[in-house]
Amino acid sequence: MKRANSRIHSNIDLEKKGHQFGELMIPWSDNAVPLGYHPIPIINIKNSHGKNILIVGGNHGDEFEGPSAIMRVSQKISLNEVNGQILFIPALSFAAVTQSSRTNPLDNRNMNRAFPGHPNGSPTEMLADYLENDLIHGFDAVIDLHSGGKASFFMPCALVQKSKSNDLFRQNLNLAKSFGIPTIWVLGENNDNRSLNSAADRAGVPMIAAELGGGGGVDPEITDLAEMGILKILNYLNIYKSTVNEAPKKFDQVELSDVSASLYAPTLGIFDRNVKAGDKVYTGQIAGWFHYITEPNRPSTRLEFKRSGVILAHSNRGMVRKGEMLTLVAEKMVTSN
Ligand SMILES: [Zn+2]
Repeated sequence: MKRANSRIHSNIDLEKKGHQFGELMIPWSDNAVPLGYHPIPIINIKNSHGKNILIVGGNHGDEFEGPSAIMRVSQKISLNEVNGQILFIPALSFAAVTQSSRTNPLDNRNMNRAFPGHPNGSPTEMLADYLENDLIHGFDAVIDLHSGGKASFFMPCALVQKSKSNDLFRQNLNLAKSFGIPTIWVLGENNDNRSLNSAADRAGVPMIAAELGGGGGVDPEITDLAEMGILKILNYLNIYKSTVNEAPKKFDQVELSDVSASLYAPTLGIFDRNVKAGDKVYTGQIAGWFHYITEPNRPSTRLEFKRSGVILAHSNRGMVRKGEMLTLVAEKMVTSN
């Protein structure tokens, strides 16, 4: 489905068979780019009939495990081994990735809070509109690889939207299980509906996202997990026969069901953390100390968890401002096969 009012287009024919390198072109006109476009690199591998998948990294520009895993996989796969189509977008917010910035320096927008976007908006809004209303409709599955970025660190997990459609929710869960990371974060009612997960849900396309560590670098073990996860999903969809087939036996579904369970900075200061991502915690347990570095005579505060759960993510900063996330505490809902 190609909508007439989307201004973005690809400079290669995505329907053509072959292993092609190209760009999505965001037409733009300002002092820096008077009569040109902002590029987003793409890699399209299309062969005989089969399913097709869109694999995205660099939605946020300071999360590098996903882009690294995509670069590995896209070079590992040869055209004659593919049934169907794989479209890789290794650095969706390309200008942001080149500057290690979470938001896009072209318009200061957060890509994953920009959906459904606008065809006549800023570069990020145009891109959100193109993805939600045009590009993803042609795909059988979407993967969007995130991590904690510079600001935070996540327990590795796959994210699925709890769709209103039971069938789509089941397909999302099946994709997450094929990805193979044993923690599945179910995005329920509290989830922000301006994300790519929500866009895929509105379009009725099965999708998972992933959180893959963070810290603004490339963790080798977590990047290996992401690479294997992509290969396992390609195998599951019969797009590419991968030799990586072992699957975990049990999956924990976790949810941020109680927003008051997570901890946020009470003011400007240092979070002296006592826990790490993946830890199980209980009510009253110490989360860490909060040091009032601008008021050395003020005693530090002992921060405690208000309910039990699992640490899904924590801040990766030293200095934090009032309102910044210190720890995300998720509740385990279901353990399943
Ligand atoms: Zn992200």
